[in-house]
Amino acid sequence: MSNAAKETLNPFEIAQKQVKAACDRLNTDPAVYEILKNPLRVLEVTFPVKLDNGTVKTFTGYRAQHNNAVGPYKGGIRFHPHVNMDEVKALSTWMTFKCCVAGLPYGGGKGGITLDPKDYSEAELERIARGYANAIAPLIGEKIDIPAPDVNTNGKVMSWMVDEYESIVKYSAPGVFTGKPVEFGGSLARNEATGYGVNFAAVQALEKIGKDVKGATYAIQGFGNVGYHTGLYAHDAGAKVVAVSTVDVAIYNENGLDMDAVLKEYQTNGFITNEAGYGREITNAELLALDVDVLAPCALENQITSENAGDVKAKIVVEGANGPTTPEADAILQANGVLVVPDILANCGGVVVSYFEWVQNLQGYYWEFNEVQQKQTVVLRRAFQDIWNLAQEYGVDLRTASYMMSIRRIEKAMKARGWY
Ligand code: NAD
Repeated sequence: MSNAAKETLNPFEIAQKQVKAACDRLNTDPAVYEILKNPLRVLEVTFPVKLDNGTVKTFTGYRAQHNNAVGPYKGGIRFHPHVNMDEVKALSTWMTFKCCVAGLPYGGGKGGITLDPKDYSEAELERIARGYANAIAPLIGEKIDIPAPDVNTNGKVMSWMVDEYESIVKYSAPGVFTGKPVEFGGSLARNEATGYGVNFAAVQALEKIGKDVKGATYAIQGFGNVGYHTGLYAHDAGAKVVAVSTVDVAIYNENGLDMDAVLKEYQTNGFITNEAGYGREITNAELLALDVDVLAPCALENQITSENAGDVKAKIVVEGANGPTTPEADAILQANGVLVVPDILANCGGVVVSYFEWVQNLQGYYWEFNEVQQKQTVVLRRAFQDIWNLAQEYGVDLRTASYMMSIRRIEKAMKARGWY
């Protein structure tokens, strides 16, 4: 049997393994893992929607609520054909730990609808979004569970869902969903927040290995919201971005891509191509194996597995995506001396600013762009430093330390509540 055959790609099993490893390392009361190994509540809903051609189709959606010892549940909603119960359970687990890594007063939640949005018109997607919001409305609320955008959802979808929710509860509740458009209760600096945080994590990791971000080389897999903003802030800081990719193309230029032009193309079209000839076309597999200072996987889960982890030559891997590295691959990276900044630390900037959006909604008072980003920077710097120190203290990698930091915070809240 090959390693790949033995390696689980079930994200929920991976999430449970990660939680277990950290509980073991902290030697927590067995009750802590017993409570954290499963979400406290998972809702599956089926709801009918009228399609444009007059027929009715039912859709299946989920909402997993992992743990609310520290505060209300928080996490995105994705529209994707692969959405299933194990996936939302895993993603809700990761959200609990991501919120606690940043010290936010939230527990993890995640939801989704199993569909390919490309198969539906905008009017149909609006009815689907409203049908889902209606179906999960009894379990969400500004002080209960606060969803946000995720893969294939955005501010427009959140706006429909807020409107649907408010039409049920009959009062204004903008804080029930975050990731809204700025003109409808969203926060300035939210759109930039995740990539800003990914680059901020990369800069701090570079400092730890004695390298300046100026002139440091970056390869970015996935050039969507997260990859684009990672590239933007890396470029602003003087880094040399040598490779970027999408699902369709990977582009490499060892002298550094013309990032002003790459960023402009994305701003104009919402995606990038290599029509302008930024560099040589390579495969995504080759991008992951480039000899760079920082490799930022910002696309999807399970990109670095036991099959290709040995090829990674980057000094630092900063996980912009959720779950891009399998546990088996993680062990190989560690053995090879690669510094991995794990997803729950590297990409927590998004949920940090979602938290600020929620605070602004509850206050009804809105902050300037710089104020939001400064507050975000304070939270991210503290989170990275606390976790770095914990990793040094226990002699563990940053992923284990991130889970340990979160578990310490959750276990105290669960203890105070008398859950064990
Ligand atoms: P997005 O849809 O805006 O961009 C995804 C990018 O990845 C696109 O460029 C796409 O072409 C590329 N891609 C897809 N499959 C690929 C493949 N096989 N190889 C190479 N590139 C591929 O999505 P996003 O919002 O940037 O999210 C990316 C990842 O970051 C996801 O894992 C998401 O869960 C995670 N994340 C996003 C946020 C956020 O605020 N948007 C926050 C935290 C984590």
